[in-house]
Amino acid sequence: MQRRIFARVLIVSTIVVVLGSSLLSGCAPKRLAPLEPGVTPSSAEESFSVPTLLDVGLIEGQESLIVSINSTGLLLDSQSRKRLSKIGAQGGSVSFHRKGQQVQWSLQGKQGVAAGVVLQPMDPNSRLTHGDQDYRGDFLIFPSIEKSGLTLVNQVDLESYLCGVVPWEIGRHGEEELAAQAAQAVAARTYTISHLGSRRKFGFDVYASVMDQVYKGSRHEDVLCNQAILETAGMVLAHKGELVDAYYSACCGGTSSKIQEVWPRQGIGYLVDKDDVPHSGAAPFCSDYKYFNWAQSWTATELQEILQTSLPAYVDYMTEMNRAIWARPIFTPGQSGADPHFPGAVHDLEILENTPSGRIAHLLITCEAGTYHIRGDRVRWVLAPEANKPGILRSARFELEKVRREGSLVQVSVRGRGYGHGIGLCQVGALEMSRKGYSASKILSHYYPGSILKPLKKP
Ligand SMILES: [Zn+2]
Repeated sequence: MQRRIFARVLIVSTIVVVLGSSLLSGCAPKRLAPLEPGVTPSSAEESFSVPTLLDVGLIEGQESLIVSINSTGLLLDSQSRKRLSKIGAQGGSVSFHRKGQQVQWSLQGKQGVAAGVVLQPMDPNSRLTHGDQDYRGDFLIFPSIEKSGLTLVNQVDLESYLCGVVPWEIGRHGEEELAAQAAQAVAARTYTISHLGSRRKFGFDVYASVMDQVYKGSRHEDVLCNQAILETAGMVLAHKGELVDAYYSACCGGTSSKIQEVWPRQGIGYLVDKDDVPHSGAAPFCSDYKYFNWAQSWTATELQEILQTSLPAYVDYMTEMNRAIWARPIFTPGQSGADPHFPGAVHDLEILENTPSGRIAHLLITCEAGTYHIRGDRVRWVLAPEANKPGILRSARFELEKVRREGSLVQVSVRGRGYGHGIGLCQVGALEMSRKGYSASKILSHYYPGSILKPLKKP
């Protein structure tokens, strides 16, 4: 026990040295960090860099924007950092419109234009507001890139950003689930750092949505999630000297996915198909989840309506970039010249191949136009629950049942397991591991085997 506590103190000391002061005041920890040996932090010399501020894309392509501040603040030119205007102690609202390639701002009767505008509170503990959400840090407004309208970015430090992410990604729980929240905090931090640059062409680092990670600012932060973030502050997961691609999903259905089996990606050593069990023969950690087992069914008419849009979208998605190399063949025409964008009547569905974890590797859907070859996780978009509504199938791990009458397809049903892509950490499983007494380190090494914790380098 002594050894465990010593290791925790060591890690917390490293974090203080690495990150210095955090904006997380008010997140007073009730107990020491849930990290412990099993995943060992390495030396700072080998660690990864973190940007001073993260640019989180909140809104893109919006005609006009109104943001507000409830204390003293500055309006700055984003390029020259020159002061455009000052907002007094009573606060105020600023409205923005796009004017050509510039932003027109209006504040209490004054207005002007700039290539980009920053709204910055004088007191770093103040909050900015957009819509019904509050945000730590600054706002940056600029003309959207490759779109009309404006982009709103929240410039915020990494740890504060995580306070607006973790409760939305793993939920709000009690002290028993603190280790799972800490594991989620490390996974979310690692995901963020390892994906920096992927959205730069839009003018920010990450989307504030499921495109990256759901982020809703500071109004709905959770005390225990903040504690989990603070106690793991600055720690990320690495594997063979590289940051881990820390994917996670709600429920693996009992076995995780190998990334290359469900997405058009190269294999990664730690993203493997692994049973989510404490030992061979035991029930999966996530087996009590409401969507561990689920079912979905469609009449042939309902499915046909869905497929008229989802199959052409699948063909377009798989032919973009280099995905066709992974997914080939995508479409076999029923007769020469048949257009995959007009599927017509659906005749049959057949699972041709499953992955070793039981997910769809290759599903054939035969329609009037020809046969569509559906690969991996994308089957969830093709077999959407309802036509013309957002939503995708819960997972790609399912069995298929068909009802035919006089040779014609009348009903299609699937019985499935799990929720999400199943790659990396299983959130429901992590919560159960935490309730059973596993530490955050043990949870992380279970879901990202062979990975180790490392501290981020101070900017
Ligand atoms: Zn699981």
